[in-house]
Parts: sequence; structure tokens; C-alpha cells
Amino acid sequence: MLNSLFDKSIEELKGIGPYYQKKLKALRIKTIRDFLRHFPSRYEDFSQLKKISELEADGVCSVFAKIEKIKTRKSFKKRLFITEAVLKDETGEVPVTWFGQPFLMKSLKAGVLVIVSGKVVSKEDKISFQSPVFEIVSRDQEEFESAEIHFEKLKHTAGLIPVYPETRGMTSRGIRFFIKPVIEIAKNQSDFLPRSVVEKAGLLDFENAIQQVHFPSSLEMAEKARKRFAFEEIFLTQFLLLEARAENASFKAPSVAIDIEFVKNILEKLNFELTQTQKNALWEIIKNLNKNYPMNRLLNGDVGSGKTIVVLIALALVVKSGYQAVFMAPTEILSRQHFKTASKILKEFSAKGGSASGGGIEIALLVSKQAMIVSTGLEGELTKLSLKKIISSGKPILVVGTQAVLQKDIDFPKLGLVVVDEQHRFGVKQRQQLLLGESLVPHFLSMSATPIPRTLALGLWGDLDISIISELPKDRKRIETSLVDSSGRQWLYGFIRERVGLGEQVFIICPRIEQADFDYQKFLTSDAKSVKQEFEKLKTEVFKDLKLGILHGRLKPSEKERVMNDFFENKISILVSTSVIEVGIDVPNATIMVVEGADRFGLAQLHQFRGRVGRGEKQSFCFLLSETESKIAQERLKAFSDSYDGFSLAEEDLKLRGPGQFFGVKQSGIPDMATNALKDLKLVILARKLAEACLLKFDKLPLLKSELESFRQRVHLE
Ligand code: ADP
Ligand code: MG
Repeated sequence: MLNSLFDKSIEELKGIGPYYQKKLKALRIKTIRDFLRHFPSRYEDFSQLKKISELEADGVCSVFAKIEKIKTRKSFKKRLFITEAVLKDETGEVPVTWFGQPFLMKSLKAGVLVIVSGKVVSKEDKISFQSPVFEIVSRDQEEFESAEIHFEKLKHTAGLIPVYPETRGMTSRGIRFFIKPVIEIAKNQSDFLPRSVVEKAGLLDFENAIQQVHFPSSLEMAEKARKRFAFEEIFLTQFLLLEARAENASFKAPSVAIDIEFVKNILEKLNFELTQTQKNALWEIIKNLNKNYPMNRLLNGDVGSGKTIVVLIALALVVKSGYQAVFMAPTEILSRQHFKTASKILKEFSAKGGSASGGGIEIALLVSKQAMIVSTGLEGELTKLSLKKIISSGKPILVVGTQAVLQKDIDFPKLGLVVVDEQHRFGVKQRQQLLLGESLVPHFLSMSATPIPRTLALGLWGDLDISIISELPKDRKRIETSLVDSSGRQWLYGFIRERVGLGEQVFIICPRIEQADFDYQKFLTSDAKSVKQEFEKLKTEVFKDLKLGILHGRLKPSEKERVMNDFFENKISILVSTSVIEVGIDVPNATIMVVEGADRFGLAQLHQFRGRVGRGEKQSFCFLLSETESKIAQERLKAFSDSYDGFSLAEEDLKLRGPGQFFGVKQSGIPDMATNALKDLKLVILARKLAEACLLKFDKLPLLKSELESFRQRVHLE
């Protein structure tokens, strides 16, 4: 516990009483580490000292002056203390006002020499300082002419002044006052980053960095200091990821035999050939299943790239070799779709090419209220209880379903593989649930269509192996994407009518479920179409004679199910929906995707929407409606309509909106500053390399070790 100073509570700091401790805690500052890492949100540049006669309205500046007079009064109406003073130097006088700080009277008296820094405001042609920061230079009047200003001693004025996230009763001024001595103590602590790391990454050492991040000598130095702290987080994250990797490799998993003939058999029954990258991914997965330690892999591929078939083959292989397999999806709709696909592909296979024993691949569906089974011997509905019995008998079976599948009361004695669709990684909890009481750990595979930029893949998901399907099947036509403004709406409705006349289907996505209840919300989100309102309008006015359906998260599961089924069977031509349809839905007859309020969605999400059409041979279209006047938003949408590559859109999103919007980043607990540095691929790669090197001599780095322990408590790499 060498570095324990940082883990100490701020209660142990001398000079901060209970009142201010409480205020600091309101800023989530509990330990000395928290305090030191309460970084300024910006710096004010007060480096220019001016004469009072040179002051100009709306400028930010500092003056060195004498307090000529000062008094505090209570405003009659607001019962607020107002402190008014007049500053004077040899060139003139300027008034100053502070609000709600009556205690200033204790230290600021007439005759005191101060440096005052802040914004100069102008009212009715008269300028004044409003609530500026100040520092007492001397209390001795005589000194006025000769006072030497020791700038390096000044905390609040002159030079770059840190401005901190504040709370009621704890201003930046207060924080500056309290943190200065803490920094002095901290500077004496040894750097937990090994010298070699600091040098190779070109970082400031701890002592410099902590000084410069709070009280920088220049903005460049402040930037360098920030880089050091961002690097720390990325570097420590790499340790956790490397550790997780090593831990995973220490478990035992069932080794699944590589049965090439079996795989070929399935492939021959398909009415298409796998793309090259589908084949690569499948091969990586099969090889991995063959190992005697668990797979921990992410299958990443753009929407429509055909991840499902790859996964189904892997699942079938596992069942074929005598183990149980689970295929989970986030929604019932998607689970049922996967169940149908699996039944179609694998049942046909087992009927014709089934193994000598006659047993094909048995497939079950298990969602919250229903269970179903499909196999050579047995077909149809069954109770959940009897399905549970079959599963707990250890019979090889593929179970498709929602999270309900992995409930505690269902026991899979021979679980070989778990696949989760539309998820980046398995949560620690989910995995632990499956580890309990098992001597063997199943293989894990997650699937995601959200392309992960490389930096994030390495920086946050570096414990996973990643397989990427990077191309779409050859026969896909490009989805024509266009922006439509309000003048184009009538044309669009005509176009939709025409296509529906040809038997095709349409999605219309709205950003909200209901119209906002409160006026102020209406005001804030005036053009956010609600799915209910839009549905009513389209049904009763625009498309009176057509079949419309509505889908959103507040419908009962059975209703959602009915609507989706009707859409699958083309009993509904136009589906008005919220973003719930975003993931996974595969309706090849749908050819038009309309997104209302398109500027409200991220590029990756829009790309997901667009991926719901263009899944068959027919030419498909995506229309983005937006009333935004923001130039940036319009350019973003324009860029989107010109690009069809999910990975480059994700990179673009990363640049424009930062890493925070990517799944898992916010939840990780890694501070914004470090996640922002995750944009920097070189830095992430370097951090990984250096972490690997340090692991080799970890026992000689006790400071790093203890810092890592405390880091582990703070972040959650879910
Ligand atoms: P996603 O990767 O978005 O989950 P799916 O697995 O749902 O995509 O596949 C989309 C559609 O493409 C499905 O209808 C599937 O049958 C079809 N498909 C998959 N692979 C190919 C291929 N190599 N050639 C042609 N069609 C394919
Ligand atoms: Mg999918």
C-alpha cells in the first residue's frame, strides 16, 4: 500500500472543515485522488495586467489597484448580500460588485492592495467588474507605489487561472484555495508510472503533470499534463484487458471436433455461397471452438453482412458434437426470427443429411411465455417445464431465445457454446451465472453490427478476439439514400404509395413514442415526431386506404409479436415505429426506410435503420427527413447519404460526436478525458505495448500494482 496517500479520505486533510468536506463530496470528491483529479474544465487567461484607464467593456483582464472604499448591503427584494467597492490606481477608478459573499468584508478593507481579475461589463456607458476573482497583494497602503508582485505565489489571479466544475457553496475560488496545499503534498509522491513508460510515451512525470494540469504555466503545458492523465487511464485499462485475457485462457472448455464434412453439408444446402470474409470468420470460430479453453470472441459485421448463418453453423457444429448450445437475442421478435431461420436451415439439413443415428439437430425456442421445439422426432409447442426437463437431461440441443434462457432455474449440464446477438460483449455477471458449479466453461461469442472503430476495439475490448465480416453479399444493390426537406414530403408520400402498389413494404421511424406532455418539452423538441401522432395522421389522412401498423416499446409483447408477424407476412404495408426495430429485423420485401427527425440519431444508428431495407433483390431507398437548421447536422446527414460503409461511418461518428456514444464506453466508468484520448490509435497501441512489457516485470513495480488495484475498483469494463 505504498501509494495509499491517494486513497485517503479528504476528511484526513488538515484545513478543510466538515462544511467544505461536504461540499467537496457533492462534487464526488471523496479521496485525495478524486480531489487531484478534479481537473479544471477550462483556464482563464489573466496574464495581462492593465491600468484602470485602459479597461474596455467585455474584455477579460486584471488590474493591480487599491481598494478605495467598500461596503456590503442587503438587497431589499431578493434578500441578497451585495458587496460594492471602488478600486483605484494612478490612472483612475472602477467600481466592483460581488453578490452573495458578505464574508468578503472580513478580508477586503479600504486601503488593501489587490489584483482583481475578471470580466469587465458595461452598463449605461459605465464599466465595472462583476464578481471578479481577486488576490490580496498587501494590506499596507504605503506599499502601493513600490509593491513587488510575486506572481508565482498568486493562486487566483495573474497567469492562467483554473476554472473548476463547481457546486453551490464551493466555487472555483474555494477549490483553488483548498487544492493548492494538496498538490504540494502529492508532488512528493513517487510516480507510479515506471520511468521507461514516461519516457517512451513522451509524458510529463507525475510531479510536473499534477502542477501543470491545475496551475499551468502555459496552455501547451496544460494540454501535455492532460495527455499524461488520459494515458494513465488507457494504460491501466490495458492491464485489466490483458489480465482478463489471461484469466480466460486459464479456464477449461469443451473442445469441439472440427467436422468439415458436416459444415460442407450445410453450406451445400444454402441457396447462396458465403462471402470470403464470412468464410474467414467461420473458420476462425471453428478453430477457436476446437481449443480446450473458452472462446471469448466478438463477431463484428456490417448490417446485412450475414452474421446469422455463420453463427448457426457454429452452433450446429457444437450440438452435432454432443453439446448444448444457446443462441440469445435482445428481443422476442428477433429470437423468433432466429428460431425460424435456424429451423429452416438446420431442419432441412437433418432430414436429408442427418447423421447415421438418425438424430438431427434439435432446436428449441424459449421466450418469456412460450416454448417450442423442432426436431426430427418431435415438433410443436411444449410447456416450458418439459423443455426444461429435456435441457437438464443433458440432451444435445440448440436453444434459441431471449435472456430468459439463462435464468437460474434452467440447468444446462452440457453447455458448449453461448452466442448473443446484438451485443458487444458478455457482462461479467452473465458469464459468472454460467460458471457456477461448472468444471467446464462454455465458449462465448457475441455479435454486433455496430462497427467498432479500431481504437475502441483495442482500447476497451482488447480482451476479446474479434472476427470481422467486412463485405456484403455480392448481389446487394446500393440503397439509394436522400435527404428530404418539408417541400419534398408530398412527393415522398406519392412515391411510397406507388411502391406499396407494387407490393413492397415501408418502415417509417419516429424519434419519440408520444407527444411531450409539458409545454416546455414541446418547445424544446418541437419537431420530434411522435410515433402515435404520426401513425394517426398517416392512417386517417395520408394513407387512408393502405394497411398501416404501429410498433413501439410500450406495446405488450404479444401485440409487438402480432404486428411483426403481420409485417413479415405483408399484411401490413407501412410500419410506423420507434427505434425498436433498429436491431436485426430481416424482412427482405421491405424496400423503403423513412427516418423522421433524422438529425436526432447518430450515424451508426441511421446506418442500422438503413440496413433494414435492401435485404432482397429489389432496389431499396432510405429517406432522411429533417427540419434542422444546424449546418453541422445537415452536413452530417449529407455525409451519411454519400457513404455506405458502416466502419467509415463509425470512424466519422467517433470524430464528430466522440467515443461516449459508443456502446459500453459511458458505462465503463473511464473518465471523459481518457475516453476522448481513445480517439488516438497510436496512443492506444503504445499503451498496450508498454503494458505488455510491464507485465513481464510486474513484481518489480509495486507502485503500479497498487495503482492498478485502485483503478480496478473504479472502472467497470462491462
Ligand atoms: P446481419 O449480419 O445484419 O445479421 P443477416 O444474417 O440477417 O445479416 O443476413 C441478411 C440476409 O442476407 C439474410 O436474409 C441472409 O439469408 C442473407 N445472406 C447471408 N449471407 C449471404 C450470402 N453470402 N449471399 C447472399 N445472401 C446472404
Ligand atoms: Mg443480425
